[in-house]
Amino acid sequence: MKIHFLGTAAAEGFPNVFCRCEACLASRRLGGKNIRTRASVIVDDTWKFDYSADSQMQALRDQIDMGQIEHLLVTHTHYDHFYPKDLISRSEGFTHVIDHPLHIYGNDLVMHHARQALGQYQGDRFAFQRMKPFQPATIGSATVTPLPADHDPMETCLLYFVEKDGKTLFYGNDTGWFPEETWMWLKGKKIDMAILDCTHGETGNKRSRGHMSADTILEVQQAFAQERILTEPDRIYLTHFTHNSKLLHDDWERLFEPYGIQIAYDGLTVHI
Ligand SMILES: [Zn+2]
Ligand SMILES: [Zn+2]
Ligand SMILES: [Zn+2]
Repeated sequence: MKIHFLGTAAAEGFPNVFCRCEACLASRRLGGKNIRTRASVIVDDTWKFDYSADSQMQALRDQIDMGQIEHLLVTHTHYDHFYPKDLISRSEGFTHVIDHPLHIYGNDLVMHHARQALGQYQGDRFAFQRMKPFQPATIGSATVTPLPADHDPMETCLLYFVEKDGKTLFYGNDTGWFPEETWMWLKGKKIDMAILDCTHGETGNKRSRGHMSADTILEVQQAFAQERILTEPDRIYLTHFTHNSKLLHDDWERLFEPYGIQIAYDGLTVHI
């Protein structure tokens, strides 16, 4: 599997274009890996996780042919993860020379928003598939199992466990410490690469809610190792960073280097 990080920021982007805090000023000054757009990854050039308003510019920046994307897996409807009106650009009359529908997967709220935004444009350009926790979907030769996150009590936010070409990818954001039922399901599984969010920054408890903190990440790493779910520590990649943490890319690298945990950045490509 080829995993391409399109964006690695939390909801407001990093820097937040409205913000003049020290972290945002430093991010603008330093540039490079400190410029983060909203979180998303592309897998094998044909699958995409989440679709924010940044998708258009991310595709231009990394020379992505978005027309190649066949499957869009949406974690939840927060504005940094799903902005379906942007997908009108893929409908009849707006896009030419395209030979397959875009399959959109997500919880019932994702389906509702997708239908509202795209229903009148649907034609044969979009296909919707509602996902329910623990009920796997077959996508080509791959199997994708949605797992409950601990993120927003008003929505069934989903994490995705992907089994594809003999490898497994765990798309584990946005969430705090996983709900017990998710841990139960993960027991006995093997993860080749896990993508987790580190939104709560350096502080926080070992089992933070809503998002993970640095301490929660380390607790997850230990639990993964104890249960032999993920035994290679350098296969954990962190994303969804915010200026509120006050930490820049190099700070995160220094913090997690002793544990072998990787800090993702916009444009990073990983092969597993
Ligand atoms: Zn988010
Ligand atoms: Zn700021
Ligand atoms: Zn969210």
